[in-house]
Amino acid sequence: MRHLVVFTHPAANLKVPSNETRIIRAHKLSERVDQLENHFNNDILTLRQMHGLEGIMKKEHTPLIPNIAGRTGIEASHLSSGTMCMNCKQLGMIRYNGWWRCLNCGKRARYAHEYALRDHFLLIGDTISTSSAMWWLGIESGSSTRKVLGATSGVQILGKLKHGENLYSLNYKHNTHYEYLEEFF
Ligand SMILES: [Zn+2]
Repeated sequence: MRHLVVFTHPAANLKVPSNETRIIRAHKLSERVDQLENHFNNDILTLRQMHGLEGIMKKEHTPLIPNIAGRTGIEASHLSSGTMCMNCKQLGMIRYNGWWRCLNCGKRARYAHEYALRDHFLLIGDTISTSSAMWWLGIESGSSTRKVLGATSGVQILGKLKHGENLYSLNYKHNTHYEYLEEFF
C-alpha cells in the first residue's frame, strides 16, 4: 500500500524536499496515479473483489469527529472561549439585540456564533449543553443562548440533561463548513 498526501488548496504554502514524492499538489495527481499504475502492474484483486471492497468501505465510513482538545490532552477549560470577530480576529464579541458587536473594532455581525460552534465541533466535540454554550459563546443569559442555538442551522436539540438544561448536537462537515479557517493560514 502506498500513501499519498494531496494538497488541494492552490494557496497552500508547501515546502517539500525534492526527493519526497508522497506529498504533491492536486494538479499532479493524475500523473502520479499513472506512475503508480505502471509501477504496480500485477493485479492482486479481481474487479469483482475491488467492487466488494468499495462497498465495504462506503458502508463502514463514519464521519470524523475530531475532538482535537481531548486527543491532545488539552482540557476544554484551558481553551480561550468567546465569539470571535472575523474582522479583527479578536475574541469576546458581545451579544446585543440579536447582533454581535466587537468591542475592539466596533464591527457588527449577525452570525459570528456559527463560527464559534463550528470551532467547538472541531476542538471539543459534537454535543454542547446550554451552560457550556453560554461559556463558549460568551453569552450571559441562558434564554438568549437557547434562542441563538435554536435558530442556528446544523444545531439540534438532543434532549434534556439531568439538571434540566438542554443538550444540543452540532452537525458540521469538514468539506463544507470550514472555509473560514483559510483566513488564519
Ligand atoms: Zn473586531
